[in-house]
Amino acid sequence: MGQPKIQYKTNAQMRTMREAGLVLSRALDAACAAAVPGARTRDLDAVFADVLKEAGATSNFLGYHGFPATICTSVNEEVVHGIPGDKVLADGDIISIDGGAIVDGWHADSARTVIVGEADPADRRLSDVTEEAMWRGIAAAARGRFVGDIGNAIDDYVTGVPGEKLGILEDYVGHGIGSEMHQAPDVLNYRTGHRGPKLKAGMCLAIEPMLVRGDIETAVLEDEWTVITVDGSRSCQWEHSVAIHEKGIWVLTAPDGGASRLEPLGVTPVPIP
Ligand code: MG
Ligand code: MG
Repeated sequence: MGQPKIQYKTNAQMRTMREAGLVLSRALDAACAAAVPGARTRDLDAVFADVLKEAGATSNFLGYHGFPATICTSVNEEVVHGIPGDKVLADGDIISIDGGAIVDGWHADSARTVIVGEADPADRRLSDVTEEAMWRGIAAAARGRFVGDIGNAIDDYVTGVPGEKLGILEDYVGHGIGSEMHQAPDVLNYRTGHRGPKLKAGMCLAIEPMLVRGDIETAVLEDEWTVITVDGSRSCQWEHSVAIHEKGIWVLTAPDGGASRLEPLGVTPVPIP
């Protein structure tokens, strides 16, 4: 059996994905602002869903293999795929909010981490390192030749950063995105001996490192969705959807296309022609 085929998008298709990305960015703004002490995770889902609805976009999470909400809310030792519900956020919680949007059949996928109220400095650092690791991966998508260059850049940055050692999850990875949320190729967040497919115009990738303050072993709870760290250590996820086109790259889910975070890394993103 061969590898699943990569879907190469036209510029027009990527511009529609950009529309989905901008709606998604606004919906995440609303969900992140709602992540305050005393809020329930289902409140975040409600404000997120409202932004999609007002924009005429639909959710790619709701109903995905039966998933019951428009976002995943993963708190503290929960890594990914947490289900919004009656859980009440408390001061110092670290929550990853992962959401998606569809416009005219084209998908966007993005995640951010918020520390509720007063942050433990070690959690603040976990989130900052994970976010910067994502940007290093995105810069590698602009400069590199192969998909494997993304994981190499993330791994090199995380392992080289001074201070408490952070683990890079291997059980969950990034992915291609387009007319479906999850497409080929897999985008690993760590260094392997494989360079992977060539980075080419028309590729759109969701780059989403997940880091933990302890061991990288994970387990799935009885709800069959929520992924936790086995040792209970805190975890974090950041994600953007990125388009590679003939003039450069453009971060579909960042309002500025990624300019403010990529220019310090020597990459100038370019709008899709
Ligand atoms: Mg996601
Ligand atoms: Mg994703």
